Amino acid sequence: MEAGLHRCRQTSREDVDHSALDRQRSVEIGEEAGIDSEKCNKTHNIAARCSANWWTLLVIGWVALATFLISTGCASVDSRSPIAVRPPTPPAPPSVKPAPRPAIRTIELGHSVKGTPLVLEVFGNGSDRVLIFGGIHGSEPTSAVLARALANHLRINWDLFTGKTIAILAEANPDGLAARSRTNANGVDLNRNFPAKNWRQSPRGGRRNGSAPASEPETQAIIRAAELIHPDRIISIHSTRRGGHCNNFDGPAESLARLMAQSNAYPVKASMGYPTPGSFGSWAGIDRDIPTITLELPRDLSGAQCWLENKDALMAFIRTGGESAGK
Ligand SMILES: [Zn+2]
Repeated sequence: MEAGLHRCRQTSREDVDHSALDRQRSVEIGEEAGIDSEKCNKTHNIAARCSANWWTLLVIGWVALATFLISTGCASVDSRSPIAVRPPTPPAPPSVKPAPRPAIRTIELGHSVKGTPLVLEVFGNGSDRVLIFGGIHGSEPTSAVLARALANHLRINWDLFTGKTIAILAEANPDGLAARSRTNANGVDLNRNFPAKNWRQSPRGGRRNGSAPASEPETQAIIRAAELIHPDRIISIHSTRRGGHCNNFDGPAESLARLMAQSNAYPVKASMGYPTPGSFGSWAGIDRDIPTITLELPRDLSGAQCWLENKDALMAFIRTGGESAGK
């Protein structure tokens, strides 16, 4: 049996296809060796299965070994293999640096008679300089609302003050605004208290124009703002009865007043029609030659309506350069 099995293994290794002819020859060989052909066939089949199983085990062993080596890191897929296709490296996008955001800062100019801080908000630090203030008359609160609305608009649209310095004092007379009175807490009309050449004592010993030019802390604060900013142009915001509303101008500012009128359609006036000694316009526009607009809002409008009606005029005023300020 052992010899027969050996012979059968030999035969099966010589020809693993086991065609009918080979099978017949294998039987004859078995008979020559005295082996029963049926037994030989059985033995041959067992041997063939053993051989197949041996190859199967060998293949499985190699696969298991390769899997083990890869999973333990002893073997790896070479990424530098020419088979591996790397995507082309895209070119670096051009670096576009965003423009730096202009600074916003606040300056405490002083305090009102009752101690309220007088805060100037300054947007940007560019060479084109603008000063805008409201609320100098406490009985004209929409003038302060409009100034605050402009400041809020600038805070979220910083491109508007890139290359510019825009200084806003929204509440020049906070005590008067709180009391809804035209004057400050000393009873002085601040717009008659500036040290203009035309300042004069109050009639009949009154205090309306102040005891002296720039006697009031609020007046001093506005003067300080002008000295700090050195504005190329100025707006002082007020309100008056409808019909008296206008873009009033002092100094070389007629073209600015007309520019604003293209947006707010207010009349352009060189004079309010009555004397204003010691007014801001007299001090800044006439005496110091700074283009100065006194924006008189119609008093029957709310602050929000004033903003809607004057936003574009203010934007035009801010955008225009000093060269077109009427000089
Ligand atoms: Zn006024």
